[in-house]
Amino acid sequence: MKKPIIILITVLICTGIFAQENGLPVIDMHLHTYTPQNYWGGSDFQVVDTVLSSPSDQAGHLESVIQQKKKYNIVLTYASGNFEALDIINKTYPDLFLPSAEIWPTKELLQDKDFLSTLEQKIKNGEVQAIGEVANFYTGIAPNDPVMDTLYRIAEKYDLPIGLHFAPGPPGSQFTQYPNMRLEYANPFLLQEVLIKFPKLRLNVMHAGLPIFMDEMFGMMFMFPNLYIDISAQCWYAFYGKLPLNDFLKKACLYGFGDRIMFGSDEMAWPGAIGLSVEYIEKTDFLTEKQKRDILYNNAARFLRLSDEEIERHHGK
Ligand SMILES: [Zn+2]
Repeated sequence: MKKPIIILITVLICTGIFAQENGLPVIDMHLHTYTPQNYWGGSDFQVVDTVLSSPSDQAGHLESVIQQKKKYNIVLTYASGNFEALDIINKTYPDLFLPSAEIWPTKELLQDKDFLSTLEQKIKNGEVQAIGEVANFYTGIAPNDPVMDTLYRIAEKYDLPIGLHFAPGPPGSQFTQYPNMRLEYANPFLLQEVLIKFPKLRLNVMHAGLPIFMDEMFGMMFMFPNLYIDISAQCWYAFYGKLPLNDFLKKACLYGFGDRIMFGSDEMAWPGAIGLSVEYIEKTDFLTEKQKRDILYNNAARFLRLSDEEIERHHGK
């Protein structure tokens, strides 16, 4: 009788039933999507204590993301990409992704009438339903630089969620592709003027300024009760991220901020990062089941203002 039991256990592990045994839905607030032209994956990545593989092309990447979404019951994914990448997911998987305009701001781009009119038209058409990830950190523009007001104004005008990158970037990248990146631009304090000037902004502080600006993030969450964060990438990308995140989550829940922390994978070119991220939350021994459900689904559902019908549908009702 031992052999059938071993086979059954192997099947359960391989099908991911152990990983999602409660069957409850998850919302991923941070993932990147591509066109065949701008997909940059194809290389394995050593992270923390595992090696993540990367599909060789965009179609394989999207297929692998869909497999992870099914395995971990991720019912909605805030997908960040350029207009063409969003066209692909809108066409192929219209209900599984929230199409969000990924923007790498420059002063020229934020004054480019063609770009801005295309963005507004796509918002009106429903082809773009959110803004971000906004990568001003990487292009060297402070979040409170007045040139950014253009994006905040559009987000407020159309009542859209907007997400900005607040975290370090890849080690060494200031010497190569991001020479204008400065760590201080990831300081959440720089959002004070923005939130005062645009009080209706539905802002997600992507990566929450972690691991550098933990106390600054708490200060901002205390002062601005409308401010949400996601914890994407911190739970898988590096030990410097993963270990401080434990401390951040424990304190955030004690301080009463647990209802504004959202789950995100920041899946880029390694779909296995989605599973690592969900399993990190599920395996923590310091969060209650309610806190886990809030982070994995409830907080994002509130931030995105999902209807009761959508929430019921996500729960299979
Ligand atoms: Zn980011």
